[in-house]
Amino acid sequence: MTKFEELGLQDSLLRAIQDMGFETPSEVQEKAIPILLNEETDIVALAQTGTGKTAAFGFPLIQKINADSRTTQGLILSPTRELCLQITNELKNYSKYENINVVAIYGGASITDQAKQVKKGAQIVVATPGRMQDMINRRMVDISKIEYCILDEADEMLNMGFYEDITAILSHTPDEKNTWLFSATMPKEVSIIAKKFMYNPQEITVGSRNSGSDTVRHEFYTVSGRDRYLGLKRLADANPDIFSVVFCRTKRDTQSVAEKLIEDGYSAAAIHGDLSQNQRDLVMKSFRTRQIQMLVATDVAARGIDVDDITHVINYQLPDEIETYTHRSGRTGRAGKTGVSMVIVTKSEMRKIKSIERKIQKKFEQKTIPTGMEICQVQLFHLANKIHNTESNEQVEEYLPKIMEIFEDTSKEELIKRMVSVEFNRFYNYYKNKRDLNQPKGNSEDSSSRGSSNEHSTRYFINVGSKDGYDWMRLKDFLKETLDLGRDDVYKVDVKESFSFFNTDNDKKERVLEHFTDFKVDGRFVNVEESTNTGGGGGGRRRRDGGGGRRRREGGGSDGGDRRRSRRTENSSSEGGRRRRSDRSSGGGFKGRSRRK
Ligand code: ADP
Ligand code: MG
Repeated sequence: MTKFEELGLQDSLLRAIQDMGFETPSEVQEKAIPILLNEETDIVALAQTGTGKTAAFGFPLIQKINADSRTTQGLILSPTRELCLQITNELKNYSKYENINVVAIYGGASITDQAKQVKKGAQIVVATPGRMQDMINRRMVDISKIEYCILDEADEMLNMGFYEDITAILSHTPDEKNTWLFSATMPKEVSIIAKKFMYNPQEITVGSRNSGSDTVRHEFYTVSGRDRYLGLKRLADANPDIFSVVFCRTKRDTQSVAEKLIEDGYSAAAIHGDLSQNQRDLVMKSFRTRQIQMLVATDVAARGIDVDDITHVINYQLPDEIETYTHRSGRTGRAGKTGVSMVIVTKSEMRKIKSIERKIQKKFEQKTIPTGMEICQVQLFHLANKIHNTESNEQVEEYLPKIMEIFEDTSKEELIKRMVSVEFNRFYNYYKNKRDLNQPKGNSEDSSSRGSSNEHSTRYFINVGSKDGYDWMRLKDFLKETLDLGRDDVYKVDVKESFSFFNTDNDKKERVLEHFTDFKVDGRFVNVEESTNTGGGGGGRRRRDGGGGRRRREGGGSDGGDRRRSRRTENSSSEGGRRRRSDRSSGGGFKGRSRRK
């Protein structure tokens, strides 16, 4: 195995590396460092997230910078403020035995402060593209003499729409510089940048191109669309030590899944673009310190997440772009650890699994959502081990004689039984009558959509009507807006006095039904059901939940999705059976903004 000493790094760096506790170079480091140290060349380096790309360019960069000159010689562009700060921090660690100034430039903080820091002499600037552009325009930074330009996480920067900023920034840099591009994947956009702005770049690839990392296992679970949330909860309950990022497609879903989890007693929080920077920082801090076990995130917000030790990435919904899946799953299995990327899919989404498999060149394992009893078993052993491994508290000593008295007649066996029951009962009572969530295997078509009277279209019932102030146009607008649908996606809107009907194409059905699970407007539940008049397949979806009056919030939580009204009642506004929401502020650590207007 190669050692850092053999890569040609200078002493001061080797000492810093030792301080950081790095023992052997990672593959991308081993490949990139000698080239970057010994040649003046452009380079494209592709390696999965978590493979140590920062040091792969950071070590050579530090070594090549002239510490005696105060000119800005190196520019690193990085997609997010979090990454920007992280890289800056790392570079400071690498250069602790050198006199090199590294300055971070990013949005959401005082631009004049940053300009001041640059002015003091920053040999290396680490910047997000937006803020960099801004500072160039205001002549607060001079990059006309840089020798090294690094595009870090290039795929993510382009994903985030920074193409124009990047090209504009590069136009202010000298032609003779070297450009080092680091990326986890190589989508078209990245090769365009490479072609346009780089001269004969050498290419380094670690692992196979665009493939997922080897330390991640990929699993999928098939549920019906409306059981997604219950499925998520079971996956969490079956993994008591879970430390995970749960990905949703939209900000709205992110917020609502997090809120449901919090309400059900999990330590969860949402992170998405509608939060202020300050709120996001708080969430990330609680996540890093493990106060949050389940971080529910949008793809964009998750780009800044760099936390090692994430045990599970859960794809609550699959992303639209396959490329995005690679990014998501790359959040786990970092720094030599193993991780699991779980995907919750409906039957009709199974095709996507196949395309992802092709892309990442890995097979998914089809797994089944654990049954209630399986979860109980896991929890029971988890609890037993926890008790077994708990260090006893000396303070208890004093009371021990009295306590012993209480248990005088209890056998050890009976005692253990009761002890674990204290916590176990929660799970047991919650899960004892719960049904199997797994979708029967076989035909991957969604049979319910085929059963409907119109092959392409689903008709819905919604419990608002003219007495709520809707006419067809307003209802259509409302649906379009809340569902994020296009102009013609909602049609055949028919408004009655206290309820209405509308149609969407079948491919929107899941979104519609899922969205209106526990959906409130002005404090009132708005309920959407597939209409039985014209849409078939309705009967099969209906189900009765075993336990009537559950009102639990702890651990096992209440079966969120089961709260849907079991059948539309004559009087559509009757919400009597609905459980009342209490104030959400009692939830864990972080409180997001209110879910919906
Ligand atoms: P990437 O940019 O490829 O996603 P990072 O550069 O952020 O990965 O590194 C991921 C983690 O691995 C960081 O915590 C980093 O400190 C650690 N790391 C990097 N190189 C090594 C190494 N050679 N030995 C041990 N840990 C390393
Ligand atoms: Mg990186």
